[in-house]
Amino acid sequence: MNIDLLTVDSARTAVLEKQTTATALVDAFYQKIDAEDAAIGAYLTLCKERAYRQAARVDALADKGDALPPLAGVPIAVKDVFATKDVRTTAGSKILANFVSPYDATVVTRLEEAGAIILGKTNCDEFAMGSSNENSGFYPVHNPRDHARVPGGSSGGSAAVVAAGTAVASIGSDTGGSIRQPAAFCGVVGLKPTYGRVSRYGLIAFASSLDHVGPFGKSVKDAALMLQSMAGREPLDSTSADVPVPNYLDQIEQPVRGLRIGVPEEYFGEGLDPEVRSAVEAGIQELAKAGCEIVPISLPNTKYAIPTYYVVATAEASSNLARYDGVRYGVRATDGKTLAEMYRRTRDAGFGAEVKRRIMLGTYVLSAGYYDAYYLKAQRVRRLLANDFHQAFARVDAIVTPTAPTPAFKLGEKTDDPLAMYLADIFTVTANLAGIPGISIPCGTSKEGLPIGMQIFGKHFDEPMVLRVGHAAEHALAGTVAGKEQQIPRFAPNDKSIG
Ligand code: GLN
Repeated sequence: MNIDLLTVDSARTAVLEKQTTATALVDAFYQKIDAEDAAIGAYLTLCKERAYRQAARVDALADKGDALPPLAGVPIAVKDVFATKDVRTTAGSKILANFVSPYDATVVTRLEEAGAIILGKTNCDEFAMGSSNENSGFYPVHNPRDHARVPGGSSGGSAAVVAAGTAVASIGSDTGGSIRQPAAFCGVVGLKPTYGRVSRYGLIAFASSLDHVGPFGKSVKDAALMLQSMAGREPLDSTSADVPVPNYLDQIEQPVRGLRIGVPEEYFGEGLDPEVRSAVEAGIQELAKAGCEIVPISLPNTKYAIPTYYVVATAEASSNLARYDGVRYGVRATDGKTLAEMYRRTRDAGFGAEVKRRIMLGTYVLSAGYYDAYYLKAQRVRRLLANDFHQAFARVDAIVTPTAPTPAFKLGEKTDDPLAMYLADIFTVTANLAGIPGISIPCGTSKEGLPIGMQIFGKHFDEPMVLRVGHAAEHALAGTVAGKEQQIPRFAPNDKSIG
């Protein structure tokens, strides 16, 4: 069996129809990971014991001829910001290098209950802060399509495993674009659902009002199947919404004829790479050919999105990260003479430069005297940005934009310029500030063969519309997306055996 071609659906069907067993699938994936992941660095930890235990459970069900749950036998990967019981959980940070979680995140529980098999934990920017994965406290991830380039971030590992075929699907978190931008850079599908659609319980917090949990897959359908098992109200996350979960496959194949697709001028201005522009315009053309009405719209406050995001996100991060003091979790500096010194040394040694920069920025915008000028003002502008979308959705069913202004950039290209890095999120942060769902789907390739992503936004809880338009565009665009390229090892294998 060629595991590179497996989808969520076909993996389950293969187990159901006894063409293979879940255990054999897990074997095949670990073989591929052993052979290929050293060159990519997408995994931080493999949880073999747990994976084989789960595979045995699925195989026992299949042997008995019992009905199989919806993700039975599907090998997946989990970003290392989700708590996994008895398995190392680092958030990509040295400060949690030795942290083994005592409990599972709700999404982890739900995916396993649905029969999915977790192969391991994926590499990411430290505490999900970054757009390239170069802020990982351990090692960077290489883009499987071109090893000299970044996979995007912060969920770069989760995007890379799907692109490399070292997992069928995966999950990530998206605070300002961390699912959609790496999906675009790696040529896979990434979905950020509505705020509140998926429980955040057990997600290591970065910025709680902006953090979202969502899936990666090879196709829009795979993303829908994953979301189906992840979504829904859960009391342990008070912000999870009490809104019924529809069947996400019900409308996915419905024709898009007659739908109104908004195209916001602000997302096609200065700074947009010409190749990205023409690929996304071609994608919009395909939707027009399928019978959609293309409506030019304006989201006038878009220009304020990046500064607003970096005030709100850093403010919340500075508060969320106060808990890493060397007492309750992870690594502790042992050479402090007083309690305060121990805290300081632990945080100084444990956090990387970007995390420290954000804690300082966040502390500053929250401090007395500056709070009104920065934090309060950012909250007001956030409302204006949400209103832009609200008004647009009175006229259109979905909005289509580029996912990122450029294709994947080179490793090292932006590491010395935090502002340039922040601008990689220019088209994605808006959906986090407004809480609306957004998906990135592959949409052609650059001359250099790099994937380009097209983004689709919908109204709150209108994931069915986002999936439907995404599925239609995906099928219209089939053939224009990047193929898998030769993988060249770049660095030595790492020890990933813990857990
Ligand atoms: N790249 C953005 C940041 O650095 C978004 C990160 C994310 O979505 N987690 O904050």
